Amino acid sequence: MIIAEGTGVAGGAASGIAYRASARRQAVLSVEQVYSSAERRYERWAEDASLPGAARELALVYLALLEDPELRTTVEKAVSRGRSVAEAITEACEQQAKLLDGARHPYLRQRAEDLRALGQELLAMEDAESQGGILLSDSLTPLGLYEAYGSGVRGIVLREPLAATSHLAILARTLSVPLVADVSFDIKAWQGQLLSIDGATGQIWAGERSFVSTQVDYTPFPLWLNAASARDIAAAQGYKGVGLFRTEFLYLQCGGMPGIEQEEEHYIAAVKAALGRPVIFRLLDLGSDKPIPGVTREREPNPMLGERGVRVLLRRRDILERQIKALVKASAYGSLSIMVPMVTSAQEMSAVRAVLSEQGAAHIKLGAMLETPAAMLMARELAEVTDFFSLGTNDLAAYVYAYDRAGDWQLPDAGDAMFRLIDYALPFAKQRGREVGVCGELAADAGYAARFLDAGCDYLSMVASAFSVVGKALRGRN
Ligand code: PEP
Ligand code: MG
Repeated sequence: MIIAEGTGVAGGAASGIAYRASARRQAVLSVEQVYSSAERRYERWAEDASLPGAARELALVYLALLEDPELRTTVEKAVSRGRSVAEAITEACEQQAKLLDGARHPYLRQRAEDLRALGQELLAMEDAESQGGILLSDSLTPLGLYEAYGSGVRGIVLREPLAATSHLAILARTLSVPLVADVSFDIKAWQGQLLSIDGATGQIWAGERSFVSTQVDYTPFPLWLNAASARDIAAAQGYKGVGLFRTEFLYLQCGGMPGIEQEEEHYIAAVKAALGRPVIFRLLDLGSDKPIPGVTREREPNPMLGERGVRVLLRRRDILERQIKALVKASAYGSLSIMVPMVTSAQEMSAVRAVLSEQGAAHIKLGAMLETPAAMLMARELAEVTDFFSLGTNDLAAYVYAYDRAGDWQLPDAGDAMFRLIDYALPFAKQRGREVGVCGELAADAGYAARFLDAGCDYLSMVASAFSVVGKALRGRN
C-alpha cells in the first residue's frame, strides 16, 4: 500500500526498517526507542491476517513480555549502570529465562524460551536499525549523507524539498542511495516500520516490495559516467569514460584534508577501476555548500557568489600543488585528464597550467568547466589555453537565471537563454578542435539530452542509474 508520495530525487529502490536520524544513532538507541519500535512491530504482526496463526500468537506473547514491568526495570537499571541497551536486553532476558528454566510447568519453560527469543529479536532489530535501513530526517547535509552511507543506509526520506541539482541530491545519486524528498511523515508512526521507497517516482510503501527494472541498451550513445569513488566506477557498465570525477567528495568524507597517501590511493583506485577508459578528475571544487574548515572562507554573506572552485585553489596554491602531485602519480596507472571548476577567465586556466608544468605534467590534458556565464562569453580566449570543456549546467543554469540551484525551480524558458549561450560558446571550442561534454544534471534529463547533442556537445556525463532512461530518450538517433 502506498502510504506517501514525495519527489523522487535519487533513483533506485530500497526496502528496510525506517529509523530516525540522530547524530550518534548507533550508540544511543534508547530503551524507550527499542521498546516502542518492538511494540509497533509486534502489534502489526498480531493484526496481520496474511501471517499464519502461530506467528500472530507469538507476536501476542512478545507483546505480553514487553509489558512486564520487572523485565523493563531490569533493562533500565542495567543501562543506567553503563551497559549498552543491547547488552542490557540480552542479559535481562537471560536472567529471567534462567529463573523459569527449572519450572515444572511446560508453560513457564516455554516462557523462558520466548524470553530468549525476544532478546534475540530485539537485538536483531537494534542491529537492523543501526546497520542500515531507511533514514527518516527533516533535512540532511552532504556530510550527514556520507555518515549514513558509511553505516550502510539503504534509502533516505526527507521532509524538506530538494532540488535535483543540489549537492546533496547529486551526492545521493553518485553514491546510489535512493532518496525521496518533500514527504510529510509522522515520525512516530513510521519509525520501526518496514518501508519500501522508489527514489525515481517518489513513492513510499508500507512493507516489502519487489521492483522490476527495465533496462535499455544505451551502449551506442556517447554516455560518460559521473563518479566520486572507485566503487562508483567499478559498479558501472557501458560507459565510454568518466566525464566528471568529483574529487572534493573525498575531502568532505574526511571532514578535512585526507592524508596524502590516502588521496593518491583514491585516485589510483579510480583510474584502475576505469579499466583503461579515460577519467576526467575535476580539481577540488570547494566553497558554497562544500566547505572545508581551514580551507574555505568561514563567513561569506552569499557563498554561492563567494570564493568557490578555482578561486579557492589559486589562493591556496599549496593545496592545488598537492592535488596535482597526487593526480600525476595516478596518471601512471591509466588515462587521466584534469578539469578546473568555476572558471571565469583564461588567466585562471593559464595559472593552473603553470602549476601543472611546474610539476612536470604539461602532457596531461587540462579542461575547463563551462559553468559561469563569464566562461561562456570568454569561450574564444579559453579555447586557446584549454584542451577540452565540460558544461556544468547545475551552476550555469543557476547563474544564468539567477536562482538558487538548491531551490525547487524549473528553467523558465525550457532552457532557451542557456542554450543561446551554448550556441555562442561552442563554435569557438569546435574551431580549435576542443571536445565539449555535459556533466551537469541536465545531461541526465530525458527532455534535454538530445538537445545538447544537437547543439554540438560530444558526450553526456551522468550517474550510472540514469544511463537507461537517457538511452531510451536517445533511441532512434544515429
Ligand atoms: C555543475 O555545476 O553542473 C557541475 C557538474 O558541478 P557541481 O554540480 O559539482 O557544482
Ligand atoms: Mg558546478
